Amino acid sequence: MNTGLQLYNTLSRKKELFQPLNAPNVGMYVCGPTVYSDVHLGNCRTFMSFDLIFRYLKYSGYKVRYVRNITDAGHLEGDRDEGDDKFAKRAKLEQLEPMEIVQKYTLGFHDVMRMLNTLSPSIEPTATGHIIEQIEMIKVIIANGYGYEIDGNVYFDVEKYSEKYNYTILTNRNLEDMLANTRELGGQNEKRGRLDFALWIKAKPETLMQWQSPWGMGFPGWHIECSAMSAKYLGAEFDIHGGGMDLAATHHTNEIAQSEACSHHQPARYWMHTNMLTVNGTRMSKSAGNGFLPLELFTGDHPLLKKGYSPMTVKFFMLQAHYRSTLDFSNEALEASEKGFRRLMAAVNLLDKLSVSDQSDFGIDALKEKCVNAMNDDFNSPVLIAELFEAVRIINTVYDGKGKISAESLEKLKQLINDFVFDILGLKDEETRNLEMNSVLEMVIELRKEAKENKDYATSDKIRIGLQELGIQLKDGKEGTTWSKA
Ligand code: AMP
Ligand code: ZN
Repeated sequence: MNTGLQLYNTLSRKKELFQPLNAPNVGMYVCGPTVYSDVHLGNCRTFMSFDLIFRYLKYSGYKVRYVRNITDAGHLEGDRDEGDDKFAKRAKLEQLEPMEIVQKYTLGFHDVMRMLNTLSPSIEPTATGHIIEQIEMIKVIIANGYGYEIDGNVYFDVEKYSEKYNYTILTNRNLEDMLANTRELGGQNEKRGRLDFALWIKAKPETLMQWQSPWGMGFPGWHIECSAMSAKYLGAEFDIHGGGMDLAATHHTNEIAQSEACSHHQPARYWMHTNMLTVNGTRMSKSAGNGFLPLELFTGDHPLLKKGYSPMTVKFFMLQAHYRSTLDFSNEALEASEKGFRRLMAAVNLLDKLSVSDQSDFGIDALKEKCVNAMNDDFNSPVLIAELFEAVRIINTVYDGKGKISAESLEKLKQLINDFVFDILGLKDEETRNLEMNSVLEMVIELRKEAKENKDYATSDKIRIGLQELGIQLKDGKEGTTWSKA
C-alpha cells in the first residue's frame, strides 16, 4: 500500500500525509449534483477531479467506498434557505412532476459522466430516499440543544453551537465579521440568529414535495442531507469529504456543525476542495448564465466555440490543470490540449510496434517513481502528464531507431502507460473506439450480405432499417456496400 500520499486539507490549510482511519479501507463522500437542470462543465470538472482522486486511491491499494449523493430535494435557490425550491420551479417550467425532472437530469448527468469515462461511485444515495435518516438526525440535534422549532420550521442554533465549537473552522473566518456582514433574510425573522440555518422547512399547501415529520408537513434543508447520508454509509467519522470550493463557506461549514452537534466529533478528517472552472475569469455557473453544457462542447454548437472537442480532449484539458488551481476556458487552450492528447495516444499506439534490444537506454523505474511522486504530491496531474510526455519521447526515440529498449523495460513501460494513462487519469483512446466501431459495422454488413445471398430479405431489411434508425446509412454499389452517417 502507498503510504507516501500527501493531500491538501482545507481544515489545516496545508498538505498532510494521508492516514486513513481504518486502512486499507477509505471512506470518501463528495457532494453530488443538484439534478434540476443539465450539469455544466464546471460541475463536470469537480466530479472529474474526484474521479482522479478515487482512481489514484484505488491504485494506491486502498479499498475505497466512494459515496456521491444526488440532491433531488431541499435545495432552495439561495444557499441560505431562501428563494424558491429549484425542483418545483423547474417542474412548473417544464410542466413535469418534480420526480420527472429528477429522473431526466440524473440520467443526463450519468450519460455525461460515462462519456467522460469516469467511474461510478460505490453508492449514489438520493436526498428523497433518506428523509427518515434526516429527520432522525434533526431530532438528535434538537435533543442535544443545538436546534429549535418555530411554527413547523426547525433551525440550527449557530450561537449556541459556537459556545462549544468553532463554527468557522473550515474557512477560518471571523465569526463577528460574519455576523456583521450577514444580512437578515426577509420572511425569516423568526430565526434566533442571523447565521442560523434551516434543518427542516415547513411546506406550504402548494409545495410539491413534502413529507410528514414531528414538526408537521415539510421538507429537509439542503445541508442536512449530506450529514445524514455520509453518516449512514461512512460512519460518524470518515476519511475524506469533498466538493467544489464554493461549498466550503456555507454548505460544508453547516455540515460540520450538524455532525458535531449530533455526534460530538468532526465528520471528516480531510476536507478536499476543487477549484472552479471559469470563463473569462468568472466562475461558470447556472445562475451567471455562462454555463457551457458538455454536449455543446463536444459538438461545437456554441457561439463562443470555433469547433467541437471530443470528451477525452476535454478531460485531458482539465487534467492539465491541478485540481486546486482555477482553470479558464478558452479555444486556444483546448486546441493545444487536443494536439497534446493526440500526441500521447499516437505514442501509446506505437508501443506494440517497438523492437526490443539486449540493452536499454532508458530507466523506466525512475520514470515510474516520478509519476508516483507527482500523484503523491496532492494528486498533481499536470506534473504527471509532463512525466508521461517523457514516456512519449522514449517511445518515439525507440520507434525512430534512435534509442534502444530491452524487453523487460518495454514491459515496464507498457505497464506504466496502462496504470497512469488509462487507470489513473482515466483517459481512453477514442480513435481505437472508432476502429472498433468500424469492425462491428463491417461484420454487420457482412451478415446482411449473407442474408441477401440466402434470399432472407426480411433479415437484410431489418439490418438496413435498424442501422438507419441508429443514424447509419448503407449504400449498395458495384464494389459492395459502404456506409455513412445519415
Ligand atoms: P450543484 O449541482 O450546483 O450542487 O454543484 C455540483 C458540484 O459542482 C459542487 O461540488 C460545486 O461546488 C461544483 N461546481 C459548481 N460550479 C463549478 C465550477 N464553475 N467549477 C467547478 N466546480 C463547480
Ligand atoms: Zn453536500
